[in-house]
Amino acid sequence: MAKLKIYTTDFCSWCDRAKRILESRGIEYEELNIHGNPAMRDEIEALTGRRDVPQIFIDDQHIGDDDDLAELAQTGNLEKMLQLEGEGSMSTTEKNNGDAIEERNVIIIGGGTAGFAAGVYTSRAMLEPLLITGDALGGQLSLTLDLENYPGFFGTEAVDFIQGLQQQAERFGTEVRFDMVTEVDFNRHPFYVKTYEKEYLAKSVIICTGASPRMLEVPGEEEFGGRGVSYCATCDGFFFQNQRLIVVGGGDAALEEGIFLTKFASEVFVVHRRDQLRASQIMQERAFKNDKIKFIWNTVVEEIQGDGEKVNGALLRNVDTDEKQVFPIDGVFIFVGHIPNTELFKGTIEFDDQDYIVVDKLQGTNIPGVFAAGDVHDHIFRQAITAGGAGAAAAISAEKFIAELENRSYPGQ
Ligand code: NDP
Repeated sequence: MAKLKIYTTDFCSWCDRAKRILESRGIEYEELNIHGNPAMRDEIEALTGRRDVPQIFIDDQHIGDDDDLAELAQTGNLEKMLQLEGEGSMSTTEKNNGDAIEERNVIIIGGGTAGFAAGVYTSRAMLEPLLITGDALGGQLSLTLDLENYPGFFGTEAVDFIQGLQQQAERFGTEVRFDMVTEVDFNRHPFYVKTYEKEYLAKSVIICTGASPRMLEVPGEEEFGGRGVSYCATCDGFFFQNQRLIVVGGGDAALEEGIFLTKFASEVFVVHRRDQLRASQIMQERAFKNDKIKFIWNTVVEEIQGDGEKVNGALLRNVDTDEKQVFPIDGVFIFVGHIPNTELFKGTIEFDDQDYIVVDKLQGTNIPGVFAAGDVHDHIFRQAITAGGAGAAAAISAEKFIAELENRSYPGQ
């Protein structure tokens, strides 16, 4: 049997995703955490040319990152490569065909703050909800370090908060599955939900799929992804010891991650397209006080350049003067906001002009019985606390919907 090895670091949601894929299939692996281990970090770079984690090997063959692993798992090739026999070697489609459709009261899609809040409320309503986590357990919080602005939690590590969310929901009876929804059909009722692993029918669905980091969409960004271009300081910062970095963006994420990167980098240049930051005052003050952080105002990144192997510069343009310069740099960290994870629901549910799901005051979508909560519909507040509140509200609405469907009473009736 071949051996699987995975290089990870602390606070890396993509590493957690890869481990979950393996654990859900009962595959044993050796984890090599590179945190604080420069030799191991250099080893990854030497073996793969990459400056990000996770990186996964089967015996000595590099198979790539969590996305590559997910693809191998879906096609059934992962077990073949590991020379495992039996059920595990079936592709997901084969598995789906073999399993009966499972019927549930409520399916919550997404394991961020909104999803787990919905889990707490629907499980306390005795609806025995199923929560399908999707890619990143904890949603946007999984990309952050400390939680400072959730009332009642001051300076709590985000990773502990996420664990608490899950434990609390599970304690009341939410079943959490580390799986990914691939298809929905809301034109029939009970609603149809299909995942990599299984098919379901549900009386009500609560969509909490959140949002994903927006890309800059400039030349070089894709080419140098993982080779100096990154969207996660906590995952990849360690690769940039004593190096010069650019952080793109002017919001809280750019400043928070920029400040974190000063632990490793010699200098961090925040490149912002305006001369005023969008970030909160407290974050601005912290960034202005940090000696390693410099600001390049009214400037956009037009191209990310490299030597074929890794990033070595960025083409910057001043939007006022149109002046261009090639800025020598070792890495570019991009934090320019998010796009909602709504692709799966396109053509089924009503979106606004930015592809966020439109909800009413009860968190209801245009389809009765389908609710949405969190960053998937909210492009105004986008806070963990508001996502949690919306998740709770969506759960109460789902409870009411099911009670009406079954001609039962519900709280407040
Ligand atoms: P934001 O939408 O707040 O900020 C995005 C930034 O990227 C803006 O400064 C925007 O510029 C810039 N931008 C957008 N598109 C481009 C582009 N194509 N090229 C260059 N720049 C671009 O997103 P964040 O991810 O920073 O924050 C999202 C939410 O999460 C916010 O509500 C924030 O408060 C919260 N958050 C809170 C944290 C905390 O409190 N610790 C930490 C991180 C996030 P412009 O300003 O010109 O629009």
